[in-house]
Amino acid sequence: LLYNEVQDLKGAIRVYCRVRPFLPGQSNGQSTVDYIGENGDLMIINPLKHGKDARRVFSFDKVFGTTVTQEQIYADAQPLIRSVLDGYNVCIFAYGQTGSGKTYTMSGPDLTTEETWGVNYRALGDLFHISKERSDSVKYEVFVQMIEIYNEQVRDLLVSDGSNRRLDIRNNSQMNGINVPDAFLVPVTCTQDVLDLMRIGQKNRAVGATALNERSSRSHSVLTVHVRGRELVSNSILRGCLHLVDLAGSERVDKSEAVGERLKEAQHINRSLSALGDVISALAQKSPHIPYRNSKLTQVLQDSLGGHAKTLMFVHVNPELNAFGETISTLKFAERVS
Ligand code: ADP
Ligand code: MG
Repeated sequence: LLYNEVQDLKGAIRVYCRVRPFLPGQSNGQSTVDYIGENGDLMIINPLKHGKDARRVFSFDKVFGTTVTQEQIYADAQPLIRSVLDGYNVCIFAYGQTGSGKTYTMSGPDLTTEETWGVNYRALGDLFHISKERSDSVKYEVFVQMIEIYNEQVRDLLVSDGSNRRLDIRNNSQMNGINVPDAFLVPVTCTQDVLDLMRIGQKNRAVGATALNERSSRSHSVLTVHVRGRELVSNSILRGCLHLVDLAGSERVDKSEAVGERLKEAQHINRSLSALGDVISALAQKSPHIPYRNSKLTQVLQDSLGGHAKTLMFVHVNPELNAFGETISTLKFAERVS
């Protein structure tokens, strides 16, 4: 069976779990990951308990262990990228606590080493590659937007003074899937164009980081790729769109410790991540009502979640002992949406 057929059988939501390795300098001692099965099972062990109660198994579509490369991770996302050029809307999410490897999966550790490039660059590279292959029959154009959602405000990452401008969301079928019409929409023709944009986006994100501690882990970043294809024989137009979402860190903040701005951030993050969970699990259960309107994130992604759209979530696990509590809540979230 091809991936897309499997998708059609299963519904359009897939959840993959990725366990990051211990980092250099970290005690390589105990891991909370006890066992990874071939079939998508992940066994977590609580080092403070003994016997049967110490272990818990979670099941996903796939689980990637610590030695899995960026290339292997991308191979499992690639069929979705192809379907964007067929006119599908696709969302790929990275979920997990801060430090669990979300940005590593989506972007990679740096832009300079091609071998460790994340899903973002590989996806765009493939979009250009496949559209060239098809150029005898379809003429494609590709546009990119990069936004950040911070404290329920949408900000353009491709405009350097974007921090002061709050963008509106329009869920309007007339907009051809462009839900944030005032965000800069940049035509791109090659991977280098995209790398240049990523640098601008990362720089603009970093500007916020000096003002507010660790801004990048407190906001959702959404890289959206709009594809427009004109079939040369029929002249008909097809549109597809790909959202690559590096979510805010999912860690819960101790209410007794967080105050002021930090508490507000935490509340916004909790609310928007649970709104996302609610939407995805409502879709998985084929519920008649999908609660898109409960967060900016789900509003921005509305026409790429549900319907004929395809969703892939990479759920990230930090195997360190002191992350145990967050690991369990991450996996429970993932279980709920899968
Ligand atoms: P997050 O975006 O979830 O906060 P990062 O992607 O920044 O986490 O990862 C935290 C650290 O772990 C970074 O130094 C990153 O390079 C490293 N890291 C994450 N995942 C991997 C991996 N699969 N292999 C090697 N290093 C990783
Ligand atoms: Mg990150």
